[in-house]
Amino acid sequence: MKIEEERKVVELMIKLYCKKKHKNKELCNDCNELLEYVNLRLSKCPFGDQKTFCSNCKIHCYKPIMREKIKEVMRFSGPRMLFYHPIIAIKHLKETIKEKRKNGKK
Ligand SMILES: [Zn+2]
Repeated sequence: MKIEEERKVVELMIKLYCKKKHKNKELCNDCNELLEYVNLRLSKCPFGDQKTFCSNCKIHCYKPIMREKIKEVMRFSGPRMLFYHPIIAIKHLKETIKEKRKNGKK
């Protein structure tokens, strides 16, 4: 999984979350802050393009408050991604399953 791809997925999820939950057309300050934080974490990820999804990662480099926020976004937008961005969602799902299998073998 490329960092760029995960960045795109996360951005879509945060935008979807903000649009539906906060009723904003553009990202509100809170969500924008979250997106910037995620981008920062991704750009510092020690795994580079070998990384798994943050949700599968063992390191958990997010600080607790941001971790809670992103979890909430994932919970909300995860199932909805299938509806709004089906191709990306299915791809993401496949990658997640593949990674889980890979990790399970170790
Ligand atoms: Zn928002």
